[in-house]
Amino acid sequence: MTQMTTGDQLLIDGEWRTPASSARISVVSPSTEEVIGEVPDAGTQDVDAAVLAARQSFTRGSWRDRSPEERADVLEAALAALEPRLGEIGGLVTSEMGLPTTIAGMQIPAALGAGRFFLDVARKNPLSEVRQTMYGPAAVVREPVGVVAAIAPWNGPFNMAIGKIIPALVAGCSVVYKPAPETPLDGFHIAEALTGAGLPPGVFNYITGGADTGRALVTHPEVDKVSFTGSTAAGREIGREGGASFKRLQLELGGKSAAIVLDDADIPTTMAGLAVGSFFNTGQVCAAFSRVLVPRTRFDEVVGALVATAESFVVGDPFDPSTTMGPLVSRRHQERVLGYIGIGRSEGATVATGGGVPEGLEKGCYVQPTVFTDATNAMRIAREEIFGPVVTVLAYDTVDEAVTIANDSDYGLHGAVFTADPQRAADVARRVRTGTFSVNSFTYNTEAPFGGVKCSGVGRDTGAEAVASYYELKTVNLTPGMEPLFS
Ligand code: NAD
Repeated sequence: MTQMTTGDQLLIDGEWRTPASSARISVVSPSTEEVIGEVPDAGTQDVDAAVLAARQSFTRGSWRDRSPEERADVLEAALAALEPRLGEIGGLVTSEMGLPTTIAGMQIPAALGAGRFFLDVARKNPLSEVRQTMYGPAAVVREPVGVVAAIAPWNGPFNMAIGKIIPALVAGCSVVYKPAPETPLDGFHIAEALTGAGLPPGVFNYITGGADTGRALVTHPEVDKVSFTGSTAAGREIGREGGASFKRLQLELGGKSAAIVLDDADIPTTMAGLAVGSFFNTGQVCAAFSRVLVPRTRFDEVVGALVATAESFVVGDPFDPSTTMGPLVSRRHQERVLGYIGIGRSEGATVATGGGVPEGLEKGCYVQPTVFTDATNAMRIAREEIFGPVVTVLAYDTVDEAVTIANDSDYGLHGAVFTADPQRAADVARRVRTGTFSVNSFTYNTEAPFGGVKCSGVGRDTGAEAVASYYELKTVNLTPGMEPLFS
């Protein structure tokens, strides 16, 4: 068990400052329900100080004007400084949100790999190119977008932070980062590593707080871009702000992704994909396969295997190495997920397995892996994001019908097809309207663009596109002799 951690200060303008706000947030472990830390709940004055520090650092240009290679070297040093702390960081994430320690041991180090990928992207991509046009030569120049407010949810705190901070910084932006109030502890390590690596003051600012802190950030007039990952409801609110102020927006929001099991699917492969896709992180994954579409001809067989898969999870103390599923992030979220299970029952769906709190785990925010059958795509359990280990199985007769059901959703983040036939896989992959798609697996690929369509958001968070999204394009129409200056 991690000891209580107290972060009394915020990183603003290169120094750890006592916040103007005296409000505090208690961080509660969802497995023990004990307070494991306390951090400032930053108010508008603190947000203002952080954003102005970011703005001033951007205006000074001591980071913005360095080459991408120079910036990448500093950030590489910060990532290297995190390496020996990964065990401690993993322990904090396990305490904060209940991610089983064995999974944290794999997931946390992967974040550094993703960070290094973004650095390589920036090193390799030139900042300007000259195009010959009918109007003469034109240079297309990429310039950092400016001050970025980056706001994250709690379901993958360390990896999400690296995935937002590194692309923005390597592009030359100045950043104010706010983690979720449930999981603010691990990010202090990132802040320390960045300062220790020699980032100029104000280029990176770390502030903790809740939704109101987030609101103060996104509405601040000196913020040029908001990179937000979280709920569709908050994304909609931020979208309104972006519409009014023309801030650049990157919104990674919710999902209700469908895994389509075709009639030729291999059951062990399908179950391996669904075990991860539907239940990883206790189902608290935006891209989770929370709907599973099964051909009526193989319904009993697939549902039987899915129930066995759900029942194979060892739910319990995330610090126990034999645990494969930890608690949900909080009591409030547990009540929400149990509420949805109640809604499913009252809508007439059948609980094929799970459906409540596991026996003996009344302390902590646990929910059994749950599979609903006898459901329709009109039910709330098939339409709304539950964000827990709850899967709704839907029967279909034809592939056309399966694609129609998959697309009959407000969301469009992810999806999958399970089939032995590559041609059928390609056909379904093209027809399902989402930003990301997996075949015979659940694949979260940080080296390719990830994001959604429809109510799942705007923009792409990973791949080379993540770095590209922190640049603005400027066209300079050239006169003779200028071309070498931009090549
Ligand atoms: P949330 O929207 O409540 O909070 C996310 C973050 O935004 C937190 O830091 C919160 O303090 C802040 N916030 C909340 N309201 C805000 C507002 N109006 N303005 C500015 N900031 C605000 O979401 P959550 O409960 O922390 O996370 C779960 C949600 O995140 C799910 O809907 C999930 O699908 C989504 N998510 C999406 C992705 C993706 O990549 N698409 C990844 C992970 C999680």
